[in-house]
Amino acid sequence: MEDIIILGTGCAGLTAAIYTGRAQLNPLVLEGSQPGGQLTTTSEVENFPGFPEGIDGYTMMDRLRKQAARFGARFEHAKIDSIEVNGTTKILHAGGKTFEAKAVIIATGARPRLLGIPGEKEMYGGKGVTTCATCDGAFYRDMDVTVIGGGDSACEEALFLTRFCSKVTLVHRRDTLRASKIMAERTLAHEKIEVVWNANPEAVLADESGNARALQVQKTDTGDSLEIPCKGVFIAIGHIPNTDFVEGLLDRDDNGYIDPASGSQVRTSLPGLFAAGDCVDHVYRQAITAAGMGCQSAIEVERWLAEL
Ligand code: NAP
Repeated sequence: MEDIIILGTGCAGLTAAIYTGRAQLNPLVLEGSQPGGQLTTTSEVENFPGFPEGIDGYTMMDRLRKQAARFGARFEHAKIDSIEVNGTTKILHAGGKTFEAKAVIIATGARPRLLGIPGEKEMYGGKGVTTCATCDGAFYRDMDVTVIGGGDSACEEALFLTRFCSKVTLVHRRDTLRASKIMAERTLAHEKIEVVWNANPEAVLADESGNARALQVQKTDTGDSLEIPCKGVFIAIGHIPNTDFVEGLLDRDDNGYIDPASGSQVRTSLPGLFAAGDCVDHVYRQAITAAGMGCQSAIEVERWLAEL
């Protein structure tokens, strides 16, 4: 049986791996379908302390991983379907495989939210609809694209896409951006970015080959329907926590975020099960706060194992 298994290799999981590794707990880190987590799809991380010039997300996660490995963290690919608790033993099921541990840190992060409008699913991944400008932006060189959303992610995606695309239309359902002031100002000042305010996306329209040709929106102020011609539709409307596998086991809120036990940020309703990062935090959701929670959960694990 393992002392500690960490689920996830984003900022929270890898920081927990560094701390538990350094505490000589020999952590086993299980990584799912997105090694490195959400930052690997971010172009530039400008606000992580210690990187005055900024650092690209992929490089940062690669460094965290190497740092965790240096302290003995072991990595294995496994997507956990469910967790069973038997006394102080946690049994993790992944396909036909099982893992056992005394303590588990859940740091499974969150995935991009989708709109659920006609055409979205049909054209997702390769036919014009995507949630990742860093991954797919270069495919839309010299083309017109739309970005949906009004938060920091939408602004970041829009700004990144100006490197490749001829025109970026930001579609937002309100008349002000929710993004931080600096991101909003950069976005609104960019000559390649046009904002369509008060617009709810209704459908992604396809051309005769099944590729995106336009985004259809409904204006909330006039009720008019509008077609915005574009070859790419980048959806940046927030995230859904990856916590389905703890349904019925741990307390979760209405949006699926794991509820921490009272008086703690990283302890859950079950002893020996801890949670860190974007699967539990719906307020801050930053790389630095996820890393902080990874650190907290590792220290809690150390104490909990010592008591055990
Ligand atoms: P977010 O702040 O929750 O923003 C989501 C945006 O999508 C909102 O503008 C929301 O509209 C819109 N939206 C949600 N559902 C929609 C729907 N069904 N149809 C149309 N629009 C919809 O999410 P985020 O931008 O991903 O940011 C998440 C967190 O990460 C934030 O704390 C953010 O500061 C942080 N972040 C930081 C950086 C950075 O510092 N560089 C980069 C990315 C993210 P409403 O405004 O009407 O609710």
